[in-house]
Amino acid sequence: MASLSDPIISISGLGQKTSDRLNQLGIHTLEHLIFHLPSRYQDKTTITQLSDAKISDESLIEASIDRIEVIPSRHRQLLCYLSDNQNHRILLRFFHFNQYQKQAFVRGETIQCFGEIKVGREGLEMHHPEYRLITQEQKPLLESTLSPIYPLCSGVTQAKMKKWVNEALEALNSSIIDDYFEKIINNTMPSLKDSLFLLHHPKQGEDLSKIESFTHISQQRLIIEELATHQLSLLKIKSARKSKKTTEFTINHSLSDKLLKSLDFQLTKAQNRSIEEINKDIASSNPMLRLLQGDVGSGKTIVAVFALLQAVENNFQTAVMAPTEILARQHLQSFSIYLNPLGIKVAFLSGSQNAQERIEQLSLIENGEAQVIIGTHALFQEKVSFNNLALVIIDEQHKFGVHQRLSLSQKAKITPHQLVMTATPIPRSLTMSAYADLDTSIIDELPPGRQAIETVALSNTRRDELIKKIKIISNEGRQIYWVCTLIEESEALRAESAEKTFTYLSSNLEDLNVVMIHGRLNKSEKEVIMKDFSEKRIDLLVATTVIEVGVNVPNASLMIVENAERLGLAQLHQLRGRVGRGAEKSACILMYQSPLSQTAKQRLDILRQSNDGFLIAQKDLELRGPGEILGTQQTGIASMKIANIVRDSYLLKQAGYYSSKMLTASLDNQNALIDRWIDEEKTHYFNA
Ligand code: ADP
Ligand code: MG
Repeated sequence: MASLSDPIISISGLGQKTSDRLNQLGIHTLEHLIFHLPSRYQDKTTITQLSDAKISDESLIEASIDRIEVIPSRHRQLLCYLSDNQNHRILLRFFHFNQYQKQAFVRGETIQCFGEIKVGREGLEMHHPEYRLITQEQKPLLESTLSPIYPLCSGVTQAKMKKWVNEALEALNSSIIDDYFEKIINNTMPSLKDSLFLLHHPKQGEDLSKIESFTHISQQRLIIEELATHQLSLLKIKSARKSKKTTEFTINHSLSDKLLKSLDFQLTKAQNRSIEEINKDIASSNPMLRLLQGDVGSGKTIVAVFALLQAVENNFQTAVMAPTEILARQHLQSFSIYLNPLGIKVAFLSGSQNAQERIEQLSLIENGEAQVIIGTHALFQEKVSFNNLALVIIDEQHKFGVHQRLSLSQKAKITPHQLVMTATPIPRSLTMSAYADLDTSIIDELPPGRQAIETVALSNTRRDELIKKIKIISNEGRQIYWVCTLIEESEALRAESAEKTFTYLSSNLEDLNVVMIHGRLNKSEKEVIMKDFSEKRIDLLVATTVIEVGVNVPNASLMIVENAERLGLAQLHQLRGRVGRGAEKSACILMYQSPLSQTAKQRLDILRQSNDGFLIAQKDLELRGPGEILGTQQTGIASMKIANIVRDSYLLKQAGYYSSKMLTASLDNQNALIDRWIDEEKTHYFNA
């Protein structure tokens, strides 16, 4: 009798090569196969009448063959015309077919087909459907349960995966599977075993619409378990790192007082509160792990400077890491404004430096002369050897993965204190699951006297009116951004569409220096353009969304975004944050393609009415889900087995509750949960 802990190679017909491939999906044992859950279902439990068929639905239909035809062009096609008993018609289209297939389609035969309903010139069509010839006594496609569709890897077909999972389910049927979560939820939900069976083979009596939308109680149970386990793992990372020892800083105010006196503004309450929270952390012998959230322009830089002054006072080095070269250089500039007058030595490291510069900077870092080191991810390359790194400041955290965060901290001889800054306000519920390994400080107020950015929506058809507006702004000596947001498959197409806009603008604004920047330019080309723009040699910058994060050009006062309806609110808010950085009144014009749908209109209205990043992020979460806000790829919450943080965000609160309960379970049970739900590759960072 097969047991759940048997390796998959024990399945007959599953060879070494396939086993290796499945291993890469994290599937090593029969139990792993059971947790390889369907990503969706096909409903072959009912036959859809052609009169009820809906375009783009996947449907099972039954009809009889009227005639077949082969289109003999170079791209041969087999066409099979069907009609049902009410004389509704559909056409099957095959782009690849063999002689045997063609001969099997005989006029008058009854056929069942499953596939996506499409519409062609002559009416309904299906392309390459799965089909069975009923009157030739092939097994009907009609099923009594929903058909699971599994995620696959190359070399494995859906049919094979289904067969193997079913063998694993047989083993499950006759064994006991540990259900650690059952006690935690006090048996208020279906058992693990029942839930798993249901998900692999939902029965017809079940509420299929719930299963399809992943809201069935059995699914909810597993989703909550997975989300909670994910949070548990982050909480464990946090507590593991917190339990490490590090250098405590002695808080000393001589440098910070000097800096305070030199400022021509007062810190906001939120800035002061964040500084206090940070000081408390770094004065402790457990490493700080803090996320500093604040809208664009809320003044995060100076808060970070106050933190690093404490490192300087204590004779330690600080590393400041930014996700791009442009941003790193900008940090170099904005940090230096504060640090140079205090006589603090700053080094810089980036990928584009020449060998000579690099060697110089590396030696300053190694011999300890450099007190603050600013750079890109070049900071954690092998050759970099810090003298006594004790504080790491990371900007725009969502562009880095957890792993990168950790590898920089491994550069230090002892675990350094870490401050992570993000300009993307994150709604609370998300912070819980994506950043449960960090403490948070929130700068939720802007410095006083900031003028709200006037935001208007304008139809694309009124583009010509903007030419006048741009001329006026430019005559006042101010600069303008024009962002092209056409969402295209490739950067090449994006660049092409930006090119058209660029041609239009430069031919209508002959007196202005109009320059285009897009993702296909290389780093140094982008550098040069951004430098020219910030030094006012460019009047109008036409850009794809590459300028989104962090660019600081206070003289720019007009932001125009084309096709704004296609972007998320959080992203639009980020773009808008590129202006309004100086004392002058700034404006943002959101152009849209009419007609605007009701929700698109609502979304643009939110931006017109609010400048509050946290409010906007919350609305964006409600309207579009968290992927947009976090960039799910980077957060490690993208590849879950059943949970989908976008679809299931309504369960996050419950998951948070259960994750803290899990923390009180025995270590063995905690680890068993983590083993079950989180792939090995992801757990290795516990030891970091
Ligand atoms: P961000 O949070 O976007 O990184 P910055 O730190 O770049 O914001 O600050 C934006 C601008 O606001 C800077 O020019 C900075 O000098 C200024 N600033 C920061 N704090 C205050 C304050 N409390 N009052 C007035 N201006 C401030
Ligand atoms: Mg900043």
